[in-house]
Amino acid sequence: MSTSPRQLFVTTALPYANAGFHIGHIMEYIQADIWVRFQRMQGHEVHFVCADDAHGAPIMIAADKAGVTPQEFVAGIAAGRKRPLDGFHIGFDNWHSTDGAENHELSKEIYRRLRDDAKLITTKTIEQFFDPVKNMFLADRYIKGECPKCGAKDQYGDSCEVCGAVYAPTELKNPYSALSGATPVMKSSEHYFFKLSDPKCREFLRQWALAGNRLQPEVANKAKEWLEGDNGLGDWDISRDAPYFGIEIPDAPGKYFYVWLDAPIGYLASLKNYFNKTGRDYDAFMADPTTEQYHFIGKDITYFHTLFWPAMLHFAGMKVPNNVYVHGFITVNNGEKMSKSRGTGISPLRYLDIGMNPEWLRYYIAAKLSAKVEDIDFNPDDFMARVNSDLVGKYINIASRSAGFIAKRFDGKVTSDWATDADPFLASLRGAAAEIRTLYDQREYGKALRAIMEQADHVNAYVDANKPWELAKDPTKDAALQEVCSRLLEAFRILTIYLKPVMPALAAQVEALLNLPPMQWADIGVPLPHHHRINAYQHLMTRVDPKMLDALFEPPAEAAPAAAIEAAADSATIEELAPEIKIEDFAKIDLRIAKIVNCEHVDGSDKLLRLTLDVGEGRLRNVFSGIKSSYQPEELVGKLTVMVANLAPRKMKFGISEGMVLAASAADEKADPGIYVLNPWPGAKPGMRVR
Ligand SMILES: [Zn+2]
Repeated sequence: MSTSPRQLFVTTALPYANAGFHIGHIMEYIQADIWVRFQRMQGHEVHFVCADDAHGAPIMIAADKAGVTPQEFVAGIAAGRKRPLDGFHIGFDNWHSTDGAENHELSKEIYRRLRDDAKLITTKTIEQFFDPVKNMFLADRYIKGECPKCGAKDQYGDSCEVCGAVYAPTELKNPYSALSGATPVMKSSEHYFFKLSDPKCREFLRQWALAGNRLQPEVANKAKEWLEGDNGLGDWDISRDAPYFGIEIPDAPGKYFYVWLDAPIGYLASLKNYFNKTGRDYDAFMADPTTEQYHFIGKDITYFHTLFWPAMLHFAGMKVPNNVYVHGFITVNNGEKMSKSRGTGISPLRYLDIGMNPEWLRYYIAAKLSAKVEDIDFNPDDFMARVNSDLVGKYINIASRSAGFIAKRFDGKVTSDWATDADPFLASLRGAAAEIRTLYDQREYGKALRAIMEQADHVNAYVDANKPWELAKDPTKDAALQEVCSRLLEAFRILTIYLKPVMPALAAQVEALLNLPPMQWADIGVPLPHHHRINAYQHLMTRVDPKMLDALFEPPAEAAPAAAIEAAADSATIEELAPEIKIEDFAKIDLRIAKIVNCEHVDGSDKLLRLTLDVGEGRLRNVFSGIKSSYQPEELVGKLTVMVANLAPRKMKFGISEGMVLAASAADEKADPGIYVLNPWPGAKPGMRVR
């Protein structure tokens, strides 16, 4: 690894500005932030930026529904970004928007260069579904209809969620617009294409993506598939027709750049905006051949970042990325429901709201991350073990066992006149620096933390061998006590430098405790001076309380413990039993196990969800159920439940309901407003009769 200062430009993927951050965003930002902090500790200059991905039909439609302009809608989302970013110590230098002026200018400039210099823009007339009510062309996701293969209703225009078939939207039976419900008509329109099929694109991308071990092996394999596959690279449709929230294409009135064209250009726009604000020269920085450019992204957007993006930049005569670092997804408890809750996600804001330490999560995520494109899992027991046993038990305890004695017994003064270069204890601790540095640089954070915790184990063995608490009992052993504790604080200082990229706020607390300026990597070799005075020890980090994890996964609706206790006290008052019936009466009701193959909100209803149920009949049933107050549709999809299968179909305002799903509720809605859908034990199959 080079030791001369490098200049780096680092980004994370731009989050789509239609919602707040989910845990996946925070994981990516933590991954990149650790790398950035590590590089800065080496003395490198790093510019780390991000932005809201503001354009496209989904935001235009969401803004329309909310009764605001798309700009207002995006501004509202952007206003919520600061709290979670600051909360998790994610230190972007700048946060911008792809609707900013810099992005409009840069996108048009890149497009003109691709069109005029590289001759890589072409037009084709294509036929597409058009919504005659909304007066707009419909992207595949806004067309629904019956699956051409299995006949399932309400399937999207590109694939069937029931049978998995993939098709063109024109193949749907009885298609309708998801926006207006109208039957779409075919209409032709001229679209603009980036000629990725041009041999020079393929030649460049082969060289960029496949040569020289640039990309992670899994990513290179994917790129090879795309580049060498039978179909080759197709031209890329980069235009959308008005109405569209985006950037108008130069010399093409009514045509806008597809959001995926201008989104990555937002990386450059955010950097340019930052440089303009801080009086730096953006053009000079990007023209400098020594500037390195890196993008951290999720695996789902690899295609855009390893094909379109480098090709766009290269043929527009701009710097191409040095690398694209791809990570997997984060699951929570492997996607299984927690026993105590319905939640399978972690809300970053809820994590902060209930007072959990953000650096626990940074540490835990870092401990799970590697340079591979693999999914990681948040497991609450594992989380608690790693934080409590490793972080607090092995690392924090070194300070708590030594700093107090130094402060109380030795006027805060450490000694180091005992130290020699050959001191085997500290030499081995410092000797781990090269390995740990390489692991951080390669984004092998899990391995780096294991190496650091191994060092912490050695330090703890030293604690156990020298027992400062025993030395403290014998006044004749003061010098030994001061030496042992000083040695431990020096070890703690080195471990803190190793952990600083992951836990910057904790490192700042340690710097305050040790009375030191912010530590860099090179400070590993600069011990605490003889008779250096430290400050009084203050508690550095608490352990995870299991109650916090319970609260983290609790659904927000159950966040009022007082009401829950009252409800329990009241549990004697149940609804009065219905009059007695005979077994023959019960036999008239045909109850069946049903699989919920799809579930959606019902436009215009605040009570109902629309369920698509499979009762093993070779057809699917549509059932409306008044359970919206207790469930998100996505929670129910794929689950089994019990339905009344022989109830006469009922015509409702929103369509015909072909049965009824069983659910429990309290007599007193105020005591417990919850609705609890029945869920059979594992092993039950759709169509089985319940008797
Ligand atoms: Zn299907």
